[in-house]
This record gives sequence, structure tokens and C-alpha cells, in this order.
Amino acid sequence: MKILVIGGGGREHAIIWKLLQSKGVTKVYCAPGNGGTAQIAQNVPIGVHDFAALAQFVKDEGIDLTVVGPEDPLLGGIVDFFQERNLPIFGPSGRAAMIEGSKSFAKKLMMRYSIPTSAYESFIDYESAVAYVREKGAPIVVKADGLAAGKGVVVAETLEEAEEALRQIMEENVFGEAGARVVVEECMRGEELSLLAFVDGATVKPMVTSQDHKRIFNDDKGPNTGGMGTYAPVPHMSDELVEQIVETIVKPMAEGMAKDGIPFKGILYTGLMITEQGPKVVEFNARFGDPETQVILPLLETDLLDIVVATVKGELDAVDVKWKDGSAVCVIMAAPGYPGDYPKGELISGLESAGENVTVFHAGTKSTEDGIVTSGGRVLGVTATGENLAKAREAAYETVQKISFEGAQYRTDIAAKAMRHQK
Ligand code: ATP
Repeated sequence: MKILVIGGGGREHAIIWKLLQSKGVTKVYCAPGNGGTAQIAQNVPIGVHDFAALAQFVKDEGIDLTVVGPEDPLLGGIVDFFQERNLPIFGPSGRAAMIEGSKSFAKKLMMRYSIPTSAYESFIDYESAVAYVREKGAPIVVKADGLAAGKGVVVAETLEEAEEALRQIMEENVFGEAGARVVVEECMRGEELSLLAFVDGATVKPMVTSQDHKRIFNDDKGPNTGGMGTYAPVPHMSDELVEQIVETIVKPMAEGMAKDGIPFKGILYTGLMITEQGPKVVEFNARFGDPETQVILPLLETDLLDIVVATVKGELDAVDVKWKDGSAVCVIMAAPGYPGDYPKGELISGLESAGENVTVFHAGTKSTEDGIVTSGGRVLGVTATGENLAKAREAAYETVQKISFEGAQYRTDIAAKAMRHQK
């Protein structure tokens, strides 16, 4: 099978790396790809929003299946566009992807299906939002309804902070259209956890649990980022808890959406908080997480192509999705200054020094005549597997230390807290 993967980050590099382990895959293209995908697939210089050019390329090259990485094209309706042209594609429709694209839409569905999440109200009027926040008091969470690259959420510890967030989003329009509506939520407390699942509309097959590290600096200090590292599975989350999440959250969501005529097909990403009252939903995403994918796919035993094809056909029920024993750890190496402004074009050295069981997934890199250079904020995801977290972590950091580019920054505490829970 010839496959086109859409996107150009570490997630897409990991998806291609895994697909290439399948006997059924003969060739993989990546649009637009990065310096890492260029080494294992054929990069195609077409942007993720140019649906017409992507569909034409698929027809011209006789590509059998397209896999979509990022949320933007999903929300833009790329799946609907391809399906109208009878081109097989893996991912949710534009309507189903709204569970990521609109927080109030996701909340409405959760209420309708009795899925545990924080209490909320949504507002388009600033005065009403302020009145609600004053009535509820702090701490309270203010969110721009639409996509704001992880920056549209303020967990306000004081009323002043909450009102300031409302002012910025609703009066100063700092997130533009994404902030035309705001969601104000009850503040939950507890440990966060991600559970991704393959969903074909009816059937749900959960993946291993994972935990991201969102802040730029050690000990969860500094501003939020796209994710500075991750590990899987989370040792202190029991099988019973995962079962509870699947039964009370993921399945009801998939079944409810199917019944409401918006079946979800693809990767359903559930961001959770484990509160004193049990697991509650923080957010849903409509695609593989980045960097979670970099630790989940190395632990997948089953052929990814088989799962993807079965999902597209609505036959996921027939696939036994198996996971390997052991753990995986991914440490992100980022450009200096990230998540603020950062330089590009720095030569990366040491990429060939990845140890055994270590894979360096490229995020913001570019292939040039001089070699691989940086081209984004998050540059590399150094991922290792091992029989336990400690071994995987040690292997990942050993390779990180052999790779260098000017000003490279990374956290040194990825998976450190979790290791204490593993026997
Ligand atoms: P991203 O896509 O970058 O993960 P997002 O913009 O979709 O973020 P959310 O995931 O909804 O936003 O929230 C971001 C973070 O804010 C969460 O990971 C969590 O730490 C915190 N948060 C969100 N909602 C709540 C809540 N109700 N109570 C406490 N913390 C919350």
C-alpha cells in the first residue's frame, strides 16, 4: 500500500516510522514533512491546507490511503473533502473534529452523554461572563472556545486574574475569532493523564496511558509549550482506573456521537484529571497527541496499518490491539528562546549517535546541503524504550547528551516523578 501522511512534526515522523514496520506498506509520502521524514519517506512540498493539491497528488501517484496528523486540516474538513472524492482517509470528519475545535461543543456533548467533567457555562457577552465569574468566585478556569495553540486557557487563582483573562479574550480579542465565545469552568484539582483510543465510530480500542510535561522548565515551571517530553505507560494509573475511563468516558462519547449522527472515526484523545471524585475530562482532541505519539507507537505490538485500515472500514472490532511490555520516554530538545522567539537554521550534530532502542523523531528540522538544521521551536523528540521507566529514561538522556545544536534546551526531569511509583 502507498500511504500519504499529512503534517510535518514529530508525531508524523513517529507515525511514518511505525507504518514502515508494516509488511503491507510499500511507500510513504509526507506532506510537507521535515528533515527526519525525508530520511525514511518522500517529502512532498504541499501545505496541509491545500486539500485540492493533496487530493490531486493522491490520485496522480495512486496512493491507497491518507493519514492526517494535525488538527487544523481535520477541522477544515479534509476528511470530508477526500471522502467526497472517494479517496480513503484516516481521521474524523470536520463536524466530529469540533470536539477539539470548540470547547463549548465538546462540553455540550459531555453534558448530553453524562460524561464526568467540570461544571461550566459558555458566554459570548463579556458582562454576563464577568457576572458569572463573580458569582462563582476563584479559583476558576477561563478558556477561549476555539483553538489557541494551548494559550487560550487561564487557570485563575484570583477573581482579578479571571476578569483580566475575560477582558483580554472578549474585549481585546487577543485570540481573534477563537475567543468570540468563552467557556468558564469550575477548577478541578488532581493529576493529569492522557488516554488515546482508536475509534471507528462504534468500537473503542484504548492505547497505553501517557503523561505530557507542558511547561518549559524542570519542576513544571515557566510558560506552557507544545509539550517538552512524555512517557508511557503511567505506572501509578491502575488497569481498573483505565477501565473506568474507557467505560464512563471514552465509550459513552463514541456511542453518543454515533447516535447523534456525528460518528467519530480516528484517534480520540482524552485529556483527564484524576480528581477526588474520580476521573474527569479536561479536553478532547481529535488526533494523535504530539509528543504522546512518540512514546505510544513504539509500544504498539499490533501492525499500525491493520488498525488504521480497520478503523477506516469500520471493522476495528475484529482487530486485537496489543501492547508491548516495558516503557517509553521521549525528551524534547527545543530551540533556545522557545516557546518565545527562537533562531532557525542551526546545524544539528550527533544525530547518528542514537543508542540501542532509541529513535530520534524530528519535529522542527530541515534537510539542507550542509546537513540537518533546526527549523522550529521543538526540534527533536529523543525517544527510548526499555524494560522499565528508569531504563528507558537513562537511554533517552544518554542520546540527548550526544546530540547538540547551538543553545539546545531540554528538561532533565521527564518521567522523574513517575519513576518513584514504579517498583
Ligand atoms: P492543549 O491543547 O495545549 O492541551 P487547550 O488549549 O486545549 O490545551 P485545555 O487542555 O482545555 O486547553 O487546558 C490546558 C490546561 O489547563 C490543562 O492541561 C490543565 O492543566 C488546565 N486546565 C484546563 N481546564 C481545567 C480545569 N477545569 N481545572 C483545572 N485545570 C484545568
